[in-house]
Amino acid sequence: MPKNFNILVALSALAFSACAHSPTGRGQLMFASEKRTDEFGAKQFERIKNREFIDEDPDANRFVQCVVAELAKQTPGRTWEAVVFRNDDANAFALPGHKIGIHSGLLRVTVNQDQLAAVLGHEMGHVLAQHGRERMSQQSTLDTFNYLGGIVGRQNKAAGAVTTLVGTGAQLGILYPFSQIQENEADLIGLKLVAQAGFRPKESIEFWRNMDVYAPSSRESILSGHPTNATRVENLSSHLNEAEALTASAIHRPECTP
Ligand SMILES: [Zn+2]
Repeated sequence: MPKNFNILVALSALAFSACAHSPTGRGQLMFASEKRTDEFGAKQFERIKNREFIDEDPDANRFVQCVVAELAKQTPGRTWEAVVFRNDDANAFALPGHKIGIHSGLLRVTVNQDQLAAVLGHEMGHVLAQHGRERMSQQSTLDTFNYLGGIVGRQNKAAGAVTTLVGTGAQLGILYPFSQIQENEADLIGLKLVAQAGFRPKESIEFWRNMDVYAPSSRESILSGHPTNATRVENLSSHLNEAEALTASAIHRPECTP
């Protein structure tokens, strides 16, 4: 048996031993340390804040910070930083370290506090499930495979091609569809968070319907790595009853005005 094959076996064993679980109970591959990932996220967020235009509009900021504060009550011990950026794209993003960016264009799609909560809950869901750390871990595995492919290839062309294929296959077969899994997971964690905080979970579904009018998702969602808006609506709808029950038992109803 070639020596390089043993390296691959050892690497795979290591991969499966570094497994954690997301809030929905899904097994996750975690190589990168949580501390390092959070530091990386915070550093990237500072860079974005320096590079992009921060929206100082007081009404927009009051609205966003109010919804963030209501959701944050459901995540004790965590400090969130949410910043509104002046950008017409209806978009939002999350980074490890509890950082959330909201584009001002998104506030034209979210017609009430419940829909804004849907987006922010989704972004918080990515952070809570450590999706950034998971992706960094996957990327380092891919890099290792590609790197090993290069070494093996220099010694044995066929074996090298196989190892590199494993890397490329992982990219197409694991990473891209994987982001769909992460998206669905963030949708569900967000839905629960929204409901526990007393927002109306039904509006999470309305939000994605609004998005479909504002920015229709393409049918090639499998290649783009994101679920279509219709898939999100379906996914959320199938968990709406549980979410409605959580809202019904929530202590109070937030009052954040756009
Ligand atoms: Zn997402």
